[in-house]
Amino acid sequence: MQNFSYHTHTIFSDGRNTAEEMVQQAVKCGLSEIGFSEHLVVHKNFRQSPSWPKLEAYHGAHIYRTDFSEAIKAFEVYKAEINRLKSLYPLKIYIGAEVDFFTYDGWLEEFKNFQKQTNLDYYITGNHFLFSEDCEYPIDADELTKHIPNPSQQKEYLQRHFLTINKAAQSGIFDFIAHIDYMRRVPGCNDENFMPEKELLLQTLAKHNIPAELSTKGLRKDGRCYPAPILLQKMLVLNIPVIISDDAHRCDELCRNFSDAEKLLHNLGYKNRWKLNKF
Ligand SMILES: [Zn+2]
Ligand SMILES: [Zn+2]
Repeated sequence: MQNFSYHTHTIFSDGRNTAEEMVQQAVKCGLSEIGFSEHLVVHKNFRQSPSWPKLEAYHGAHIYRTDFSEAIKAFEVYKAEINRLKSLYPLKIYIGAEVDFFTYDGWLEEFKNFQKQTNLDYYITGNHFLFSEDCEYPIDADELTKHIPNPSQQKEYLQRHFLTINKAAQSGIFDFIAHIDYMRRVPGCNDENFMPEKELLLQTLAKHNIPAELSTKGLRKDGRCYPAPILLQKMLVLNIPVIISDDAHRCDELCRNFSDAEKLLHNLGYKNRWKLNKF
């Protein structure tokens, strides 16, 4: 069974346990590696978002930053803590980030500067927001129908979402792609919808050999893995590398349902597995 997990969160972002508690749990679970992928969510206009009242009330609201320089400072402090743990525990510990990829002018340059300044071990992309053509402000996925009542506009927002993940994949920045059909939580974004956009994304992953995750988070929430079986099947045909993730936000979520995910991959005959090769 896969004995590492690279998609995890601690109190540094919106998790419920400290990094040290998660590391101790990883040792208990027999993991040989753990990676922390704390949220990096920087948008200059977060406070202008109609979703801001909801976001502000979230227990992890501090992750919604408007300025990369704040994020650089915060990750520096966090990195020191992870380095302390690296010297104390007998497993490989990585520090990474789960990045919401935004497309307004200047964002990518600022992100690249963040990368240079913080020098984290790895990056994954996980887009949790929807936005207009000019990416003026992020809209919470669960509030799309509330703030964008026009169905044809909703469709455009969702199409743009998949095309944005495709852009993120093409940027060459990301080590793997998180929960590619996260937006199935939005009405009108079923497993079969937006297939041309999803297929374009899968083609990009195949072309550049970028892994996608099989996330067990969905199994905990609604009994269904991300991605949906129809996408997993297409990933298999395209020979896209896969990694199992738990997206753990608490100690007891670490490696949860990994055996179910292993079974699923075994039954499909999915053999192209991926692992970070660092240090
Ligand atoms: Zn995520
Ligand atoms: Zn996550």
